Amino acid sequence: MGAHTWEAGLSDVRLVLRSRRVITPDGERPASIAVGGDGRITEILPHDAEPPGGATLEDVGDDVVLPGLVDTHVHVNDPGRSAWEGFWTATRAAAAGGITTLVDMPLNSLPPTTTAPHLATKREVARPKAHIDVGFWGGAIPGNTGELRALHEAGVFGFKCFLSPSGVEEFPELDPAGLAEAMAEIASFDGLLIVHAEDPGRLASAPQKGGPAYADFLASRPRSAENDAIARLIELSAAHGTRVHVLHVSSADALPLMAKARAEGLPLTAETCPHFLTLTAEEVPDGATEFKCCPPIREKENQDALWQGLADGTLDCVVSDHSPCTTDLKTPDFGTAWGGISSLQLGLPAVWTEARRRGFALTDVARWMSTAPARLVGLETKGAIAPGRDADFAVLAPDQTFTVDPARLHHRNQVTAYAGKTLHGVVRATWLRGRRIAVHGEPTQQTGRLIERQAA
Ligand SMILES: [Zn+2]
Repeated sequence: MGAHTWEAGLSDVRLVLRSRRVITPDGERPASIAVGGDGRITEILPHDAEPPGGATLEDVGDDVVLPGLVDTHVHVNDPGRSAWEGFWTATRAAAAGGITTLVDMPLNSLPPTTTAPHLATKREVARPKAHIDVGFWGGAIPGNTGELRALHEAGVFGFKCFLSPSGVEEFPELDPAGLAEAMAEIASFDGLLIVHAEDPGRLASAPQKGGPAYADFLASRPRSAENDAIARLIELSAAHGTRVHVLHVSSADALPLMAKARAEGLPLTAETCPHFLTLTAEEVPDGATEFKCCPPIREKENQDALWQGLADGTLDCVVSDHSPCTTDLKTPDFGTAWGGISSLQLGLPAVWTEARRRGFALTDVARWMSTAPARLVGLETKGAIAPGRDADFAVLAPDQTFTVDPARLHHRNQVTAYAGKTLHGVVRATWLRGRRIAVHGEPTQQTGRLIERQAA
């Protein structure tokens, strides 16, 4: 097999990445990945193929080469709340964690991404800081329906809305009439609506005790709030024909609803997050608001059902919902502390640790954390190790363990619910378009680009 014949044009190959464990769309296998001068994969070769003259050979042995992760749910908060996180720190942390593309959420920054000029401002801030590829979601808020088409044409990947208060006053939720209006408008250009699905009525009627007890916080964000909101979204998606993606699904009770809607052919997708899959309500100490997020981390039995939802395909993606803040906002009162879990750099090992325990393979993890999110946002050059795709890779030592030391995180703030946990899977290196952007948890060169929705 060493006598591989190079096809015309492959003289352009500048890198060959070799591993006994490459995750391809057809499964895991030994291979040598040929990368061209343009940073794209030219061919997947036999493991022992001789690199062409001039190409660098990188042999990573038994380490697993996954497609670079695509994290479509990240709150970077820059500009405006860059003390919470910023494009420099977020993209360095992402690179260290095996992520090669992120899509930034439209809120918590000032301005929020709710008009095309605001998007331009965000891009200016992000461009010089991007260590990985960065794209943007737009926002749908009361009164900005007339801005949505311009944002779509400017390259946002879709539009986020809330049905209940978002936590920041400049990004209000849509009421039923506003939601219907936004859905009709977004359907008119075949855009994508992504929704924080918690029903405000259900939240208002739940006991809001506040204080340090996690059980009280959990009771304040009941499953019924998610279930009802998702049921309403399904009805509206059917009525308007709008493509809808449900963000951070926490209530497993909503899975049968979504499975039924999908079986009926509705354009519905859904994601869940590392914290819902790896942390449980039972283990959250009172006052430990680094575990606070909305919707909340629920019971162990609920977590088991979420894994089942991933296994049967009702849940498509696993994305971080990285939503950090400064330490002072994580007061010990669950009623008033900022809601958001910081995990960008840790998502891959966190999910892999639990996935392997439950008998899943790295091919599954690659599907949930790279292929499916890339498909969600229509990025045809990302999400797989295949000819023509960008040479974006996460190189993982899957059996090696480490203990989470917050001081080693590149997030701007080191508060994390994963502190002290021992996780499986060490990210050895991350590659973006054929260039190594992180080694052993440390970012190296900065080659990220701003990316846009690709016209269909
Ligand atoms: Zn979020």
